[in-house]
Amino acid sequence: MLRGSLLKEIALEAGFDCIGVTGPEPFEDVLEVIKKRGPGVFCPAKDRYSARERCDPRAVFPGVRAIISLGVGYYVDDTLDTIKKSGYVGTISRAASGRDYHRVLREKMEKFIFLLKREHAGSLDYRAFVDTGPLVERAVAQRAGLGTIGKNCSLITPEFGSWVFLGEILVNFPLERQRAERAGDCGECCLCMEACPAGALTSAYQINSERCISYLTQKKGFIPRALRSLVGSRLYGCDTCQEVCPRNEGVKISGRTEFSSRPDGRMRDIEDILTMDTETYNRVWGHTSAGWRGKKIIQRNAVVVLGNYADPGTLPLLEIAAADTSPVVRGHAVWALGRIPGTKALKLLEKIRRRERDPRVLEEFKELKI
Ligand code: SF4
Ligand code: SF4
Repeated sequence: MLRGSLLKEIALEAGFDCIGVTGPEPFEDVLEVIKKRGPGVFCPAKDRYSARERCDPRAVFPGVRAIISLGVGYYVDDTLDTIKKSGYVGTISRAASGRDYHRVLREKMEKFIFLLKREHAGSLDYRAFVDTGPLVERAVAQRAGLGTIGKNCSLITPEFGSWVFLGEILVNFPLERQRAERAGDCGECCLCMEACPAGALTSAYQINSERCISYLTQKKGFIPRALRSLVGSRLYGCDTCQEVCPRNEGVKISGRTEFSSRPDGRMRDIEDILTMDTETYNRVWGHTSAGWRGKKIIQRNAVVVLGNYADPGTLPLLEIAAADTSPVVRGHAVWALGRIPGTKALKLLEKIRRRERDPRVLEEFKELKI
């Protein structure tokens, strides 16, 4: 059997910061939660998987004998700098500001598997996942000893706090297991729950993903009207429940430049977003984790941020958005215009309503009650 110390050496050589190992037994506790509260409870993006696939490693890979959980710290010493142009800006989360972590972790995993093959004498069969796999990643990582899940539902590691990207490899041979960590190191603290702008942390260790801004800024289509104002200035993702967490104080700063948002910082100019062509989008956003949903999602979010300024100065930008080819962008522009006081916004809305034909956008007018 491969020694744990050797596995750690391989992980470090492949570019990972933390590694743990757990067995293939189902995650019964998580299964209970999903059964009770519905499949989207941990991550609605994974609704395409059954509850059993989410919680039973053998349903994902029948030959699995052990699971290797891997993590990379991504907290970099960034600021919220911006290049001011129109004066209207939005922020992107730390996880989304650098190079797409899915690609970064997949490259590291390929190297890890190459090194593992060199050391492992028998045949090697495996399944490797980063974020998009069926298993409940944080539960895997906790049982593998990487850290504990906090009341904000993030996996919190001793060295890198919750600023950790996770992935796992299911292998067809047994490995020495790490001691499982137990959740509950938060004590009496409730700062994340108090700070969550959307009330998505409904109670300790429970998140209503449908309200979480991180999810809302990734989902396709229309953001529910009642939740748009909660998005604030967040263009993509939300870091609030991690930024306020005392368990994230003094965490190790990642030296990896691929997760840095420089030279632009984590603020983005809204005018640039609303006027960019596809080529610019591919160049500026395509390589980031915020880019995977496509240009229209970023533009829709930019319109929501503008709506939250509720400022007459945003009218020229909202006029551009209201003429967009996407009904989703146009619909959110109608909502945003409805938040601006004064006759100029009303006149613009009337002009837009006369030419609009899409029923989803017209529905937005009904809600304005003008
Ligand atoms: S990411 Fe933001 S919206 Fe989601 S739970 Fe954390 S603080 Fe709340
Ligand atoms: S903010 Fe407090 S309650 Fe929330 S995860 Fe951090 S330590 Fe736990």
